[in-house]
Amino acid sequence: MPKSQLLKRGFKANAEKLSVSYREYLSIKAWEPLCAFKLAEFLKIPIFQATDFVSSETEIQTLKSDEWSALTMVTKKENRIIIYNPFHSEQRQQSDVMHEIAHIVCEHKRDCDKYDFPIPFGMHEFDEVQEEEAKCLGSTLQLSKACLFWADKRNFTYEEIALKFNSSVDMVRYRMNITGIAKRKFITIK
Ligand SMILES: [Zn+2]
Repeated sequence: MPKSQLLKRGFKANAEKLSVSYREYLSIKAWEPLCAFKLAEFLKIPIFQATDFVSSETEIQTLKSDEWSALTMVTKKENRIIIYNPFHSEQRQQSDVMHEIAHIVCEHKRDCDKYDFPIPFGMHEFDEVQEEEAKCLGSTLQLSKACLFWADKRNFTYEEIALKFNSSVDMVRYRMNITGIAKRKFITIK
């Protein structure tokens, strides 16, 4: 079963709506880039760099090794905060943070202790449905259908789309495929 089938009916459509609504709140047009850090600020979600909390050589090496992206933590005061890896490219940081914002917007709960610090680097998220929802919503926030259509209309390459929307090329490809725009394009060319 493709993982996208884990999503509840209507989830994708709601993600698109939310992507447009947040842009409206921030006075950004539906097809314009949305910065994850600005969105977090709007949603009043505090964001920290992992390097604010760790400094040992081993931990810094873990961050640099590309294995660790970001996580959402509930502090002892019940605040949800996002901690991200500042060693990732700006494009990766955008999708990492959008992914975590999506977990918070979806009110995902994890069966884990509340942490203050240190950061649980080894911690993985297990809930497949929640992960798929965060992947879907996070990527839609970054690249709404409106963004993709806007770029497609101008015959942007995936690289150009990535540059315009500060995302990775892989993310562009993923969104073009999952929205069916890539297929539509292929049929048109044919
Ligand atoms: Zn996740």
